[in-house]
Amino acid sequence: MNRFASRQADYLPSSYYNIKADLDEAPKPPLHPATKKPLDPRDLEVIFPKSFIDQEIATARDIPIPSEVLEAYAQYRPTPLVRATGLKRYLDTPADIFYKYEGVSPTGSHKSNTAIAQAYLAARDGVRTLVTETGAGQWGSALSYAGALFGLEIRVFMVRASYRQKPGRRTLMKLFGASVEESPGPTTDSGRAFFAQNPDHPGSLGMAIAEAVEVAMRSGGSVKYALGSVLDSVLMHQTVIGQEAIRQMDELGAQPDLVVGCVGGGSNFSGLAFPCLRRRLKQGAAIRFLAVEPEVCASLTRGELRYDHGDASGLTPLLYMHTLGMGFVPPPIHAGGLRYHGMAPLVSHLVDRELIQARAVGQDEVFQAARVFLRTEGVLPAPESSHAVAAVIQEALAARREGRSETILFNLSGHGFHDMGAYEINGRPV
Ligand SMILES: *Cc1c(COP(=O)(O)O)cnc(C)c1O
Repeated sequence: MNRFASRQADYLPSSYYNIKADLDEAPKPPLHPATKKPLDPRDLEVIFPKSFIDQEIATARDIPIPSEVLEAYAQYRPTPLVRATGLKRYLDTPADIFYKYEGVSPTGSHKSNTAIAQAYLAARDGVRTLVTETGAGQWGSALSYAGALFGLEIRVFMVRASYRQKPGRRTLMKLFGASVEESPGPTTDSGRAFFAQNPDHPGSLGMAIAEAVEVAMRSGGSVKYALGSVLDSVLMHQTVIGQEAIRQMDELGAQPDLVVGCVGGGSNFSGLAFPCLRRRLKQGAAIRFLAVEPEVCASLTRGELRYDHGDASGLTPLLYMHTLGMGFVPPPIHAGGLRYHGMAPLVSHLVDRELIQARAVGQDEVFQAARVFLRTEGVLPAPESSHAVAAVIQEALAARREGRSETILFNLSGHGFHDMGAYEINGRPV
């Protein structure tokens, strides 16, 4: 039994998979925030680089990956597909468990897959500066790295609660050459409104997005905005994960019956799931898909499906998505990357069509799952990824109870070695 599939460069896909080409019914379009009419893609040009917008509205099924981007990917891709034999033994389950390990990217998560693509496209368009937000710091550090690769300046609004709790991530971004400021802060109108209420406001992703979008809109074109999740093209960039996983599993003679990922904005889950979902849509493969979210920020299982803004100030287009409301400020749970009020429109659509199931898990169970995974597989999962691990453990134990053999594939979207603080309470391991 091979524990690893081989790491040959032929595992790297040459194109991104655009699932919209394979859907019978398209998701509802984004609306202009002022007119509430379907958005003209040109309206997005004040915010995003033009080549990025082209990818956002692309209708072709396969979108070629530029060779410069492939070369940057080759530094850490293909990522390992690992058979979780230690976890299987510990759970004493008939289920076979595989994980795709995205923590091997230089900044430790899947976010580099889209950061590299977005930075490359922006640089090619002649953009000098990209501005963005970050929660836990995973996206900010991935974009800072990508900016360093392609010679772009990166400016990051970091949610204040994380800025103060995660000095390591902040330092990493600065070492890459990015500038990092606390959000909400006094340098933008959006930030000032919240900052004036409370200078120690813990912030939220929605507020930090509003600040970053405002900076791009007011720059007169020299600064563009980059988003690390939610948008169709960001999900599409992540499909390198699933395409590789399918090839690696084929080599091992395995097929997933169940595909699992954690969801914040929906990108790592979609990256693994969409290429597998294609097999279900086109070849009738019987594969289940499970998106896992935290109980305290449960947009899919507790939110409403409706139009809402992507930020907290109403600057972004209206997206048709599962949402807890743009004003929702999630409690400061440690999985900062899952503290977002909305969900990707594509994931929302597929949950609504019952092609994807959703489940919320509680924080104690998530930490317990992380500890089991560390002890059996040797990797400390990112707090976000531990949500997927918790659901995988639930499913593997259900398979044991029912005496069912099942092949489970999940996305280990990042490692938690920069998030040690999240695993300590009062200085003691949880
Ligand atoms: C950002 C992040 C997430 C959540 O974002 P998605 O777009 O839902 O993938 C999950 N895991 C890790 C490690 C992250 O950094």
